[in-house]
Amino acid sequence: MAERSYKTDALVLNSRPLGEADRLITLLTWEKGKIAAVARGARKTKSRLAAGVDLFTYGHYLLHQGRSFAIITGQEVKEHFIRFREDPDLYPYGLFLAGLTDRLIAGTEPCPASCRLLLDSWRLLDGELDRDLLCRAFELKLTDLAGHRPHFEGCLGCGAGGAHIFSPRQGGVFCRQCAGGDGMELDPGSIALAVRLIGAPLAQARMLRPGPRQKRELAQVTATFLRYHFDLDDLIKLR
Ligand SMILES: [Zn+2]
Repeated sequence: MAERSYKTDALVLNSRPLGEADRLITLLTWEKGKIAAVARGARKTKSRLAAGVDLFTYGHYLLHQGRSFAIITGQEVKEHFIRFREDPDLYPYGLFLAGLTDRLIAGTEPCPASCRLLLDSWRLLDGELDRDLLCRAFELKLTDLAGHRPHFEGCLGCGAGGAHIFSPRQGGVFCRQCAGGDGMELDPGSIALAVRLIGAPLAQARMLRPGPRQKRELAQVTATFLRYHFDLDDLIKLR
């Protein structure tokens, strides 16, 4: 059937050898969500598919939907973030962004916002900026897109302003009364930073200059939150 073949822009989240000469890749596609796709013969040196199946690739793909996998029948590389593989300082950041997307985004619904977020993050990571701060902005925005946005504006219990005790389990802040001795006490500047990073365009991470305490606290907040809800120990270690 003709409609079983389709074209889509996509980002390569994962790429691993399959059998003698193939690669099995995980694609985050604009049109069909996250899919597993086989690139037949991609590990042969002369393969026309070899260029577009590496991790950190943004490309346009022609796919044919088989019973369990999609088969890549054509592709065109748009951007290849090759520096992530060559620079050992950059590699864990690139891997973290791709891996977190792979774990948080599921299903075959179109997901243009998640695709755009990851592509923009890869582009920013390839330039000059505070990489850790970019990762914090990415974590917050991606959890929001995945439907698990942590809550930083007012107490989750009573709605009071100025709440600053974060509960990883409840995914938000509480005032002292409602917290009942539970949770992480945060500097108000850390909460303001979280709110800013969720709401502002991603590129603002280049302009912000938070203090070390705010950065450290926000890193703890997102790490404990992600660990609690998504079982991501292996990925958190990359940060
Ligand atoms: Zn309260």
